[in-house]
Amino acid sequence: MYDIPFFNYPAIYKRFEKEYDAIFKDVCSRGAFILQKDLAEFEAALAEFLGVKHAFGVNDGTNAMILGLKAHGIGPGDEVIIASHTYIATAASIKLVGATPVFADIGEDNIFSAASAAKKITSKTKALMPTQLNGRCANMDEVGALAKQHGLMIFEDSAQGLGAAFKGKRAGSFGGFGTLSFYPAKVMGCFGDGGAVMTNDDAIADRLYEMRDHGRNHDGEVVDWGTNARLDNLQAAFLKFRMGNYAEDMQRRREIAKMYHDGLSGHDKIYLPQGPSDGDHYDVYQNYELAAEERDALRAHLANKGIRTIIQWAGTPVHWFEKLGYGREQFDDLPRTDWFFDRCLMLPMHMALSDADVKAVIDTILEFYES
Ligand SMILES: *Cc1c(COP(=O)(O)O)cnc(C)c1O
Repeated sequence: MYDIPFFNYPAIYKRFEKEYDAIFKDVCSRGAFILQKDLAEFEAALAEFLGVKHAFGVNDGTNAMILGLKAHGIGPGDEVIIASHTYIATAASIKLVGATPVFADIGEDNIFSAASAAKKITSKTKALMPTQLNGRCANMDEVGALAKQHGLMIFEDSAQGLGAAFKGKRAGSFGGFGTLSFYPAKVMGCFGDGGAVMTNDDAIADRLYEMRDHGRNHDGEVVDWGTNARLDNLQAAFLKFRMGNYAEDMQRRREIAKMYHDGLSGHDKIYLPQGPSDGDHYDVYQNYELAAEERDALRAHLANKGIRTIIQWAGTPVHWFEKLGYGREQFDDLPRTDWFFDRCLMLPMHMALSDADVKAVIDTILEFYES
């Protein structure tokens, strides 16, 4: 019997307990809680890491998207194309600014397919908004070519993609805006909710700056309607510290992914994500998500052995949500997403996982199909 959690929440604090305690003490003793230097320093470090002109810490990854869409004037009558294999928050952010989310299928890589999106473009389409899923970028050459052909903007839900790159360019830096989430289980989580929104456009940056803080500009003057969507200075201080060791995390995640890849490759009942040595992509493996025949029985077998797995989005791609007016049977043009959600499964992938844990997961999966 193993004891391998899907994600180990207490371990994120334990890993740097002393450093975090010191940061807490420092920030609180200074009384530096809202829009202080730790936030500005974190934003500067983040922008540099991503290769973008502007990064703003906000309260979470969902509000990051809402602000990004609003800053670009997306609203009623507009359509934005997303992959249905995404968090409900991607679609919700589009809905909440009054626009309409339109669903594209995923490709063989299980990420936003530009070929499918091409069939969904109408006169109302304003933007393509791929989700840089599981720590991997969509094929941004294809997304870029399609956007150019139809004069569309590119937005990125890069909540899961901190450090992911396509041809050397990092997720969140490709279009009108990109976003991040620092939810605790994300690649770089904080101790609660947190997020960021990035842009290379100075005018959009001003809008974002204002909208996250009650419409106040750099002089503190109210110049527009805004909201309160600020990242806490304390969380920013923790995150600024985390940026310093994030390279190590990316490397470790890729190492774990390689172990899964090597251990499970070539099995006819298992469909693996791309391995880490894949020319155009630098994948940071927010999740290790595969597809497996007899998925539910496999998952139960793993649970019986003490290995916890998760089906992403609790098993529901956006176009299956009946209470939101959708339903699987309404769509006949998202076949890969339907196929994938009958089989998809995420294996444990986090910094507290040992090599022995990874081996145990691999062995237990192979044992299931042998029996
Ligand atoms: C986590 C996540 C979000 C939302 O981020 P929050 O910080 O929880 O609001 C959005 N999109 C994707 C793909 C995510 O994984």
